[in-house]
Amino acid sequence: MNERADLIVVGDVYTVDAARSWARAVAIHNGRIVAVGTEADVRERVGTAEVIFGACIVPGFQDAHIHAAFAGRIRRHVDLEGLHDVDDYLARIREHADAHPDEAWIVGGGWYAPVFGGDGPDRHQLDAIVPDRPVFLMNTDTHAAWVNTRALELAGITAGTPDPWDGYYVREANGMPTGCLQEGTAYSFWSDRVPADTVEDWMESVRVAQRHLHALGITAWQDAWVRPDLLKAYRELEDLHELSMHVVTSLWWDRHRGPEQIEELVEQREWGTGGRVNAGTVKIMLDGCPESATGSMLEPYEGHFGQEHDRGLQFVEEGALTEAVVRLDALGFQIHQHALGDRSFRAALDAVEAARAANGWNDARHHIAHLQLPDPVDIPRMRPLGVVANMQPYWACPDPATETLTRPRVGSRADRLYAIGDVVRSGAVLAMGSDWPVTTPNVFEQMQVAVTRQVIGHPDGPILDASQRITLAQALAAFTRGSAFVNHDDDGGSIVEGMRADLAVLDRNPFAGSVHEIAETNVTSTIASGHVVFGA
Ligand SMILES: [Zn+2]
Repeated sequence: MNERADLIVVGDVYTVDAARSWARAVAIHNGRIVAVGTEADVRERVGTAEVIFGACIVPGFQDAHIHAAFAGRIRRHVDLEGLHDVDDYLARIREHADAHPDEAWIVGGGWYAPVFGGDGPDRHQLDAIVPDRPVFLMNTDTHAAWVNTRALELAGITAGTPDPWDGYYVREANGMPTGCLQEGTAYSFWSDRVPADTVEDWMESVRVAQRHLHALGITAWQDAWVRPDLLKAYRELEDLHELSMHVVTSLWWDRHRGPEQIEELVEQREWGTGGRVNAGTVKIMLDGCPESATGSMLEPYEGHFGQEHDRGLQFVEEGALTEAVVRLDALGFQIHQHALGDRSFRAALDAVEAARAANGWNDARHHIAHLQLPDPVDIPRMRPLGVVANMQPYWACPDPATETLTRPRVGSRADRLYAIGDVVRSGAVLAMGSDWPVTTPNVFEQMQVAVTRQVIGHPDGPILDASQRITLAQALAAFTRGSAFVNHDDDGGSIVEGMRADLAVLDRNPFAGSVHEIAETNVTSTIASGHVVFGA
C-alpha cells in the first residue's frame, strides 16, 4: 500500500467547503482526506494508489432525524413500505404470518394512512387473515398503529376503555376500538404489550439499516428515538467494530415522567458515548401531527376536526417543558424537540430562550425537528437563539398526506406548510433528515422535492408554494454540512484536507440537467472513514 494515499477518488468533486468549490480528485490516507485538487495535482502529491472513478463525488450524507434502528426492525419483519394498496398490505402480512408459524406476535409497519381514507385501517381486515395471533403494525409516520382483535383482547381493550390524555382510539359506533390506535395509544401498546426486542434484536436491526443507508451514500445519522436497549445495541456494535456510521443517539424523554429522569439520562450519556456513538442528545416530543389533528396548534382544527380534537395534543406543557430544557441545557445536553404545530414550535423556542436566559450562550446546537406549520413570526427567532431547523423536505409537496389529511384539518393555515425557503432566508442553520421509516431515506428524492416542491414524477403537477423552494446547493449543504453541524460532527460534512474521509460517489452530476432528474441520481460507492462500505 502506498504510504501517502490508500485511495484516490476521481470525478466532479463538490466539496461543500465554505466557498462551495469544485475539484477533480480526492486522496485518502488512514481514514482522512489528505489531498483535494486537480487529478494531476493530487497524483503528484500522493503518488499512485487504487483509484475509484465517479461522475460526481459529494461528502457522505448525514441524516439528522431518522429512526434507523426502528426502520431496520420493520425490514426484518412485516415491511409494508412501498406498497400502496390494502390488498397488497394484506397479502404481505399473510405471507409473513404463513412463513413464520412460530412467531407469537406478527409485528412490523409501513402502512400509509391515505391508502385507507376515512377512519384508517380496521381490525377485521387483519382478523380475516390472522385470527389467532396478535398483530401490531405501525404506520409510516409511527404516530398510529393497526392491530387485530386478538391484540385488543390480549391487551384487555374494550368499548369501556377510556382514551388516554396523549392519544385516542378510533371507535366503531358502539364504542369498540376499530383497531386504529392514534398517538399515545399506539406508543403505549407498543411499549407495554408487544414483547420487547432484546439488545441482540436491536443490533441486527441496526446492521440492516446501516447496510441500506450506506447504499444510499449516508455515513452518519441522528437516531431520533433511543431507549436504553437500543443505546446498548449501538455501543455493542461499536465495541465489536461493526459500526461504520457515526451515530448521534437522541435519548428519549419520557413525557409521563418529570425531571427525576434527568439523572438516568446523564448516566446513559456517560456509558453510551464513545467511538462513533455520541449519546449527548435528548429528544423531547412536543406534539403529534396535523394529519391526525394531534399536532399542537394555537387555534382549533377546522370544522368537526376542531370539535373532536380542539387544538390537538401538547404532550409536554409549556411550564414543564421550560423546566426540562433549562436543566438539560445546563448539563450540556443538546435538545432535539419534535414540533409540528405552531403552538408546539413556539413552546420549543420559548424553552430554549429561557435556557439561554438562565444559562447563557453555549454550543449545544439545539434543534427543532419537522417545523410543519410554524407561525411565520416565530421563524426569525431561531437564528438569534442558535436553534437549528431540522427539516424533512420529502413532505414539502402536494402529496396525498398533505392534500387529503392535512389541508382539510388546518384550512388556510396550509399556506404556510414547510417554509424551508423562509428558514434559509432567516439565516438559521438548516439540517435535513428523512424521518425514515416515515418516508424514503433516499437523499436525492428528498432534495428534488426541496427544490421543486412537487411530487416526484409529476413535473407539470401542482407546486406546494413555489416561494419556499430552495436550490440544490442549499439542500445538499443541509444534508452534509448542516446535518454534520447538528450532529456535532465538525470532522464531517465537507471534502476538505484533514477531515474524515466520508464520501458518496455518484453515477451522474445532480447539478447537470433538469431539477426533475435529481432523484434519478444513484450512489455507486460509499466511503466511510476511508473504507469502502458500499460498492466497488
Ligand atoms: Zn421522527
